[in-house]
Amino acid sequence: MARAGRVIGRADPPAGTRPIAAGGDPARRAELARRLTVIEERIAVAARAAGRDPAGLTLIAVSKTCPADDVVMLHTLGVCQFAENREQEAGPKVSMVTRLLATPGDDPSAGDAAGPGGAAGGPDLTWHFIGQLQRNKARSVLRWADWVHSVDRSSLVGVLSRLAVERGRSLSICLQVSLDSQSDSGGRVRPVVADSGRGGSDVAELAALADLVEEAPGLTLRGVMAVAPRGEPARPAFARLRAVAERLVMDHPQATVISAGMSGDLEVAVAEGATHLRIGTALFGERPGVP
Ligand SMILES: *Cc1c(COP(=O)(O)O)cnc(C)c1O
Repeated sequence: MARAGRVIGRADPPAGTRPIAAGGDPARRAELARRLTVIEERIAVAARAAGRDPAGLTLIAVSKTCPADDVVMLHTLGVCQFAENREQEAGPKVSMVTRLLATPGDDPSAGDAAGPGGAAGGPDLTWHFIGQLQRNKARSVLRWADWVHSVDRSSLVGVLSRLAVERGRSLSICLQVSLDSQSDSGGRVRPVVADSGRGGSDVAELAALADLVEEAPGLTLRGVMAVAPRGEPARPAFARLRAVAERLVMDHPQATVISAGMSGDLEVAVAEGATHLRIGTALFGERPGVP
């Protein structure tokens, strides 16, 4: 399984030619360990500042553009949750990770990457899809993803439900909320469901979407996800997300996840109730010029 061309590697040597040493490159491993310690400390400090238990926060390592052996090394350091945003990149990478983690003696080429529980990386590795999802990519995403954070329109719900049922598994769903400010007729700023090509919809639509997911076989509604808007302070945006989440949980008591906070804004996300932090750059280093 070639990584070449799919996974944007780190500078030296190119990802496509780098041999996968058992345990990975020691210098890279040490760097990942150091970065992990720093991020865990940031999370702990942010949690304490917000009067929250750090144990209630989940770190999701956003491994987009990083090679499979980075994932494996972080996994050996105790990270079990990983996220990807592009299906084309993630599919091969997850297969590669699964092979690298296969216990010696297993036939790494045997069968489908996904195990019986649907978790492609095995029982202790969870994969999150956090990118824009097109319906025609849903089938591929379902081969490896345990969670989809980016459900923002009703047309996705039926497709994901059908595919999850087909695979005999349960898929965790977060509803993606756009935090771009939009003034309603009363001039108040309020969040909208992520732009569905119709300029964004009302929060009332989030409730309908939540009901739809709740009723869909094979899907489990977990909560909400958002990215802080560009060009405005993150904290008020995350406060709006929290209000949406609090409203949602009244009707769906199990939907307690607030997936928010990235490398640059995790502290304010934690202050505003985030439960799942999606961290890329701070863990892996700067990505090559790829969004
Ligand atoms: C890339 C990405 C992240 C991680 O961002 P960093 O700033 O690198 O931590 C989080 N969420 C989404 C949706 C992303 O695409």
